[in-house]
Amino acid sequence: MHTDSTTPSPFALPDEVKSFCEVARRIVREELLPLEQEYLASDKHAYGVKETINLKNVFGEDVVKRLTKLSHDTGLWNLMVPEEHGGSGLSMLAQIAILEEFNYTPVPFPFANVPNILYQCKGEQIERFLKPVIRGEKTTCFAQTEPDAGSDPGGMMRTKAVRDGDDWVLNGTKMWISMAAESDIIMVQAVTDEEKRQRGGITMFLVDRNNPGMRIEECGIRTWLGPKPSQYVIHFDNCRVSSKDVLGEVGKGFTLGQRWLTIHDRLLRGPYALGKMQRALDMSVEWSKQRVTFGKPISERQAIQWKLVDMYIDLEALRTLTYSVAARADAGEDVRTEAALVKLVSTEWGARSVNEAIQVHGAMGESLELPLTLFYRYLRHAQIGGGTSEIQRVLIARKLLA
Ligand SMILES: Cc1cc2nc3c(=O)[nH]c(=O)nc-3n(C[C@H](O)[C@H](O)[C@H](O)COP(=O)(O)OP(=O)(O)OC[C@H]3O[C@@H](n4cnc5c(N)ncnc54)[C@H](O)[C@@H]3O)c2cc1C
Repeated sequence: MHTDSTTPSPFALPDEVKSFCEVARRIVREELLPLEQEYLASDKHAYGVKETINLKNVFGEDVVKRLTKLSHDTGLWNLMVPEEHGGSGLSMLAQIAILEEFNYTPVPFPFANVPNILYQCKGEQIERFLKPVIRGEKTTCFAQTEPDAGSDPGGMMRTKAVRDGDDWVLNGTKMWISMAAESDIIMVQAVTDEEKRQRGGITMFLVDRNNPGMRIEECGIRTWLGPKPSQYVIHFDNCRVSSKDVLGEVGKGFTLGQRWLTIHDRLLRGPYALGKMQRALDMSVEWSKQRVTFGKPISERQAIQWKLVDMYIDLEALRTLTYSVAARADAGEDVRTEAALVKLVSTEWGARSVNEAIQVHGAMGESLELPLTLFYRYLRHAQIGGGTSEIQRVLIARKLLA
């Protein structure tokens, strides 16, 4: 809900949400931006790692405690937690407007980081898995991808789970799993019915980090996303998991995975990109007014003005799309295809906007002291992680041609 260089959204946000956005903006300006230089200079943060872990690794325990307390005191900690679990009860539109503010800087702010599908926990799972995650005492990761199963996990998944008494026995290998080594609970998909596969034959298990049948090791592949690797390979070798630790129903794990991807990896890419695009535009406007070549600020050159205008068009169009899909989700509509649309354009337009901002800054655009290259790498990655741009187009085409 920025207004620095844009007009307000056409969506009327309730006053309560506006005041949350103002609090979020104040925290970003007063608490997070002053930490940004040190964060960017550090080689201790990693992509996709829980906020508190990155903050602790870069700044130490005191900063984590201070920001976590601030998050609780302002009510932001439970921003994305449903009301029945003690959360804010805010709409998806409100959550998106607030998250946009926090994406203005790469310095993370601590929230309860609860995958939406964990609310499927039942009975004793609630105490063991859900509540500790809401309180921030335990962390999770999502393990779907395998060496041979990326874009087509339903068809190509090889990790299998076979029933043995009260347990399931898992065998197989997952790859590229973000944050696995830092997670207490691994949400893993395995084939439980070879015939049915994604249509009722894949189950989601909650596997404890200390399960002796599971081994986690670094991927051994360095990416451009950060100085520290944060993707892992997970080996399941006759890994016994109690049938009590099935998340949701047996055979419904693929659907659960899609639900997680629809919200976390698709719709929420909207605010993820919007904050970064707004910052890139604000920085570019500012820089272009100061930087003088051939006797004039570059802001007076049409070539530069058009870059700013193009960034502004992407930002406004994406904000309108994201807010509108969020409002439709709040109204109970099935927005799976529209969430794919948000992911597609937020990551593609986001990366191209930040790319323009880098160009406007000239050599400084490539400086690691500014957040621009990190923003670019994150947005470019998001065209692959969580389902590639091509797969989002496949999903959208399916609806068009249905
Ligand atoms: C940094 C990082 C973090 C990740 N974190 C996680 C995680 O936490 N959990 C997890 O489960 N996975 C994770 N992944 C894996 C990620 O989701 C997959 O890499 C992604 O889904 C793409 O799969 P792939 O790499 O196997 O590409 P492939 O499936 O091999 O695709 C290769 C290319 O072919 C294209 N393609 C494939 N099929 C089609 C088609 N039908 N039509 C047109 N084009 C097609 C793709 O779009 C792509 O361009 C992560 C990956 C990275 C790089």
